[in-house]
Amino acid sequence: MLFKEIPGQEEIKERLIRSVLHNRVSHALLFTGGDGTMKLQMAVAYARFLCCTNRLIPEGEEEQPDACGTCPSCLKFNHLAHPDLHFVFPTISLGPGTRVTSDQFLPQWRNLWQTSRGFFGFPEWLTALQAENKQPIIPVEECNQIIRKLSYKSYESEYKVMIIWLPEKMNQPAAPRILKILEEPPDKTLFILVSEDTTQMLSTILSRTQILRFPRIPRNSIATWLEANGTGTEMAKRAAFLSEGNALKALALTRETDLVNFERFIKWLRLCFKPQQTMNELIAHCEELAALGREAQKEFLAYGLHTLRQSFYTGQTGTNPLYKNEESEFINNFMPFVHTGNIAAYDTLFNEGILHIERNGNPKIIFLDMALKLVKLIRQKQ
Ligand SMILES: [Zn+2]
Repeated sequence: MLFKEIPGQEEIKERLIRSVLHNRVSHALLFTGGDGTMKLQMAVAYARFLCCTNRLIPEGEEEQPDACGTCPSCLKFNHLAHPDLHFVFPTISLGPGTRVTSDQFLPQWRNLWQTSRGFFGFPEWLTALQAENKQPIIPVEECNQIIRKLSYKSYESEYKVMIIWLPEKMNQPAAPRILKILEEPPDKTLFILVSEDTTQMLSTILSRTQILRFPRIPRNSIATWLEANGTGTEMAKRAAFLSEGNALKALALTRETDLVNFERFIKWLRLCFKPQQTMNELIAHCEELAALGREAQKEFLAYGLHTLRQSFYTGQTGTNPLYKNEESEFINNFMPFVHTGNIAAYDTLFNEGILHIERNGNPKIIFLDMALKLVKLIRQKQ
């Protein structure tokens, strides 16, 4: 996670960057704010920046300093595997009377971080824990681990960083022990507490930390961020509008829609490969598409065009910019059918389709006409 990958929160980024560059790193920070305001992501980006051995410090005002992303320290951060980066998060017991600590759930934690690219919240963590009806907590045993870990010297960085995610889920005996650590912090140690509900925390803990409040993220920042991550303009705007400043909610909205569009789109293309055998099915599918609302039809076509462009890009550059597995597989398989000889025609076809739908054309005719043109384009040789 880099600062530039996080939508919005520019003031907080600037403040954190300044604290590192001016050597004023506070020993205990508390990030607080609503769901999806990028607190955990910011904690990791900050720790990464702090530990980076080759920070990017641009000269102009326009670009922001950030971690380099490529030094040995940064590479370890990709997998959350830096020896001076420690996490505490809520866990569940694995049987009656047993309690485990975060270390035992590190594989699940790192895996969730990888698969979500760092964009997840408590509900996703509950799923990863397979918590079912259990309420995850931070048990008192965890505090002993914290003390043990911090008693070692840092391995590679100047600082040791301890990120405590959801400290409000500490059980009763654990909280005073954390307080004790915060009162007498080991040297060159940075605590970042990431909380969604500070009313559940001891006021004595709060008073030991420097509090940074994360506001809701503006719509346009969320929309720009979604677009940069491959969502079409229209859908990005709509998801940002519905998200109430919660970037994780916006992301979930686009993924749901993406998945549905993905299935509709591969079915459409599959039926266009051998229309002699599948003409009835193809017509039926076009009728299904025609029965969607107009906005959904436009999103579907925008999604289709986006996917074709990704396929073209992958074919030309050999790099697949997408992370989603089924989609990237499809994009790879479809590469031979989208090339310099037909990409412009695909582009025109989909953009005209969107335009005709906007102008209230008959969707049954539009989708069938597009399908017949797709049949030809797919067969076109390079
Ligand atoms: Zn670096």
